Amino acid sequence: MGIIKTLIFLAFLIFAIAFTYYNLQDAEIKFYNYSFKIPVFILVFTSFGLGLFFPVLYYTLRENALRKREEQIYSFLSLFWRGYLGRALSIFRRYLPREEFVPFYIRIKREFKEPIDIQLDLYRKGIVETALAENKIPKDLDGARILLENALGKNYRNLKAKRLLRSLYLLKKNLDKAEELQREILTEIEEERRTCEQRALSTILAEKYLKEKDSVYLKELWQLPISKLSGAVLASVEGAESIFEAASNLGILNEVIKIMEEKNLLDPNLLSLIQSYRNHIHDDILYYVYQRLNMQEQANNLNIKNPDLKLVKGKGRKLLSLVRIWKCEECGKEFKNFNSVCSNCLAVNSFKINLN
Ligand SMILES: [Zn+2]
Repeated sequence: MGIIKTLIFLAFLIFAIAFTYYNLQDAEIKFYNYSFKIPVFILVFTSFGLGLFFPVLYYTLRENALRKREEQIYSFLSLFWRGYLGRALSIFRRYLPREEFVPFYIRIKREFKEPIDIQLDLYRKGIVETALAENKIPKDLDGARILLENALGKNYRNLKAKRLLRSLYLLKKNLDKAEELQREILTEIEEERRTCEQRALSTILAEKYLKEKDSVYLKELWQLPISKLSGAVLASVEGAESIFEAASNLGILNEVIKIMEEKNLLDPNLLSLIQSYRNHIHDDILYYVYQRLNMQEQANNLNIKNPDLKLVKGKGRKLLSLVRIWKCEECGKEFKNFNSVCSNCLAVNSFKINLN
């Protein structure tokens, strides 16, 4: 590379000398009444030099400013993630007019337990409202809902706000709105997350079926990947064999059967099918099944593992319903009953049987 540069420089030098030799004569420059003479080669070289100098100066200054800003952002992020929040805040205060930085500010203020003073009408993208809404979960779900609705009012293409609001609607059993949002989420979601969101739609439609008993939902449910709740619903109406097989492959058979038990969807005719999956179903879950079907003897013969379940074994259904058999996989909170969405962290389809 060095040789090529030297050759180019030499060629340019020879060209410059030759150009100078042929252009030693004067040119006359006039402006109003003034005029002066200057050799042509100086005129050409000066124009060329000035034409090069100003753009180079402009871009060098600009690049330096950008580099300084980049270093500041890296320095801020490094301080932020290492917990030097006060110093981080002092660096990035000037970036607050950029909405993308405001969630950091909210988090710092929260950690300092200081009031979050933000003028919402300064921002247009709904990012700030979404970050504030996350901050209100799970203590103030209504406040979070209003913020998320406002976020989507400002910018409808805010997937995070949409998913959170969908979960809130589902939690509040506002199923029509949850379904509407979920269908929009599916048109926008990235490919690798599609199945997960299709399962969320399954769950919403299964909730709607349980509420309205309209078979139109079943038709679509058969087309979608099954979720724990939709599996329970479909197994209770028809084709329990195929649902049990699919649920077993997905590792959610215990959950499907427990939901059927909780929602009173267990038909005694399913007992032989349940027996044939005996190796895939936990004794704790069978205990619930046998209790529900009044099969005391079979229930008492089971080898229960859950310590809380052991405590209430044989003491009636009322105490049984107090056992926190469910656990949210996302936040770890334990629950007595199944829910499609976690009231603590708003995760959908996150409930798992708390097996010991
Ligand atoms: Zn949770």
